[in-house]
Amino acid sequence: MWSVDEHLADILEAVRPLEPIELQLHDAQGCVLVEDVMVEIALPPFDNSSMDGYAVRVADIEGADEEFPAVLTVIGDVAAGSDGLPGDRAVGPGEAARIMTGAPLPAGAEAVVPVEWTDGGTGGGPADTMRSLSDAPEGAGGEVRVHRPVEARAHVRARGSDVKPGDLALSAGSVVGPPQIGLLAAIGRSTVKVRPRPRVVVISTGSELVQPGEELTGGRIYDSNSFALTAAAKDAGAIAYRVGAVTDDADTLRATIEDQLIRADIVVTTGGVSVGAYDVVKEALSSVGDEDEPGSGIDFRRLAMQPGKPQGFGSIGPDHTPLLALPGNPVSSYISFELFVRPVIRALMGLPDVNRPTVQAVLDTDKALTSPSGRRQFLRGTYDAEAGTVTPVGGAGSHLIGALARADALIVLPEDVTSAEPGTDTEVILLR
Ligand code: AMP
Ligand code: MG
Repeated sequence: MWSVDEHLADILEAVRPLEPIELQLHDAQGCVLVEDVMVEIALPPFDNSSMDGYAVRVADIEGADEEFPAVLTVIGDVAAGSDGLPGDRAVGPGEAARIMTGAPLPAGAEAVVPVEWTDGGTGGGPADTMRSLSDAPEGAGGEVRVHRPVEARAHVRARGSDVKPGDLALSAGSVVGPPQIGLLAAIGRSTVKVRPRPRVVVISTGSELVQPGEELTGGRIYDSNSFALTAAAKDAGAIAYRVGAVTDDADTLRATIEDQLIRADIVVTTGGVSVGAYDVVKEALSSVGDEDEPGSGIDFRRLAMQPGKPQGFGSIGPDHTPLLALPGNPVSSYISFELFVRPVIRALMGLPDVNRPTVQAVLDTDKALTSPSGRRQFLRGTYDAEAGTVTPVGGAGSHLIGALARADALIVLPEDVTSAEPGTDTEVILLR
């Protein structure tokens, strides 16, 4: 018998992070950067207005108030996307330029007065009616009355005040999330070098399995494992391919796996790993690929855990693709995935935390939970973060999908525990 920890360590020992590739920003989401990304432009790239208003010289509006506003001549518009005033004009003494948010501060101007601190101007209305260059009026004119003074640089976002050329934008090892993608785009990067998402192929086995949506005839059940594990693989960060259920026939299964190897960084199978007469995965995987290849071959073992005792692990095919053969019972296969496959996916991605987070919680139950001696038991539960408690849902049966769907945590009862009293401190694995 292998312990849960020994099995996981054996698996992680065998997997290395995937080779980095250059990906488009939206494909890099959730991936780990393998390069330091340096900033090559200033952000903002030019001094620009943070308000809709008028670009002015501060001396012209010193001491202005409601009663004695400063009256300035409006000499034109600076719209977002324009490169300054038309004809490269500068704002001179006694002059103002109408400006909108994000537009460059025109030559000669030292600050921006928000439109709210003016009478709006007589030539073409307030600047916030300008939506874009195309629908801006030909050029504002007339006069504007300014009711309040401003200091130099007021309402001006300085060039480089966010990031500057030579700054480190993101360091190698960062996970590319939405804000990081925003920064990369803002500095003009369209691709980045990251470790890609692993491609996980999920194959369920069992002649009793019927595809959801089809008619259920006597003695058959719907294939739920391949759906649950494909979803779990995506949830862990993988690109997941669900292969429909394969019948309990070793040749068919072998052929299916060999066909799938081309697009797999990991192969996951469910069912057919225990000691029954039709345990097809065991039978099929003893001869997949070149048996003389070092590292090839799948080792079938018994783990000191419940559920999930029978497990297979090894690598197959010319690329030594890791294969995890999980047990068939729906709860067993899901828990096995969480404990063993999820860490592989995350290790391949180069993520630092490969395991689900765990917490300690107080067992909230009426009667003691029992657990087999020498096996680590994983019961389903609901975790209440506020109360710091965990409540079991359903029993220990590995067929209880209904209870699994109501759970958000796994209650871990260690190997040496045979009974856990209500109120005991327990380890809990958080599933979301
Ligand atoms: P096995 O390990 O193949 O003997 O399967 C153990 C139990 O899990 C049996 O009751 C199977 O019918 C059930 N089972 C196996 N594969 C699936 C699946 N893909 N979806 C739902 N139940 C399954
Ligand atoms: Mg089976």
